[in-house]
Amino acid sequence: MHILVTNDDGVQAPGILALAQALRQIGGVEVTVLAPDRNWSVSSHAKTLTRPLRVKEVELADGTKALASDGSPSDCVALALLGLLEKPVDLVVSGINSNTNLGHDVVYSGTVAAAMEAAIGGVPGIAVSVDRKRERGWRDYGAAAVVARWVTEWVIRHGLPDYIVLNVNVPAGELQDFRGLEVTRLGLRLYHDRLEKRIDPYGRPYYWVAGDPPTGVPDEGTDIGAIENGYISVTPLQMDMTAYGLLDEFAAMEKMWGEERKI
Ligand code: MN
Repeated sequence: MHILVTNDDGVQAPGILALAQALRQIGGVEVTVLAPDRNWSVSSHAKTLTRPLRVKEVELADGTKALASDGSPSDCVALALLGLLEKPVDLVVSGINSNTNLGHDVVYSGTVAAAMEAAIGGVPGIAVSVDRKRERGWRDYGAAAVVARWVTEWVIRHGLPDYIVLNVNVPAGELQDFRGLEVTRLGLRLYHDRLEKRIDPYGRPYYWVAGDPPTGVPDEGTDIGAIENGYISVTPLQMDMTAYGLLDEFAAMEKMWGEERKI
């Protein structure tokens, strides 16, 4: 079993080291770390097609070797699946992201995109993120690493259906504080972005899309509700974003096009 570990926070982020260390404890597992050489958070499913990609060997804080690419998280997964690594990859685990990926965050997330790139390539993908301890101003990956290992072992045993990824979010705190594990649907994220206009020394305006951190609606059964209530959240995500329940409703467009265009 050969696991590719990647992330979107960059190869030297503490979360990916905690993840690699946790997965190396699984018997019979070989772990390769290949991740971006810088932070690609909120880069979504970017792919690099207009310039070459470079890969170099780097050393992580625990002295282990890793590979760093100047591409995106999805690029890292594509490089590995397309033959950069001698051994074929059986599973991709992405994270541990330095903050949660809940609700609509999954659309922006490079962490989740890396897992989706795996699914597109026919390999099971897992994304793992941890809630930040806002009140203490630091992040601890210990509990999230234990959860990541447990979910990875579950996927090794059970597999994942084609084109499905698991989006795992871990609450802040220690394992004994968690109330359990909930399998959830995506909740409703609420963003509080605002445009900040500033003036540069030449008198020209520049802009920041800034604002307060997102909140969310903690509905029962959602990922946002689970994290809010101290549960580990596991959401199965599908690549097929078709709104199946609306196909009939929108079928009227077919007829209308034909009538109005007199085809
Ligand atoms: Mn990130």
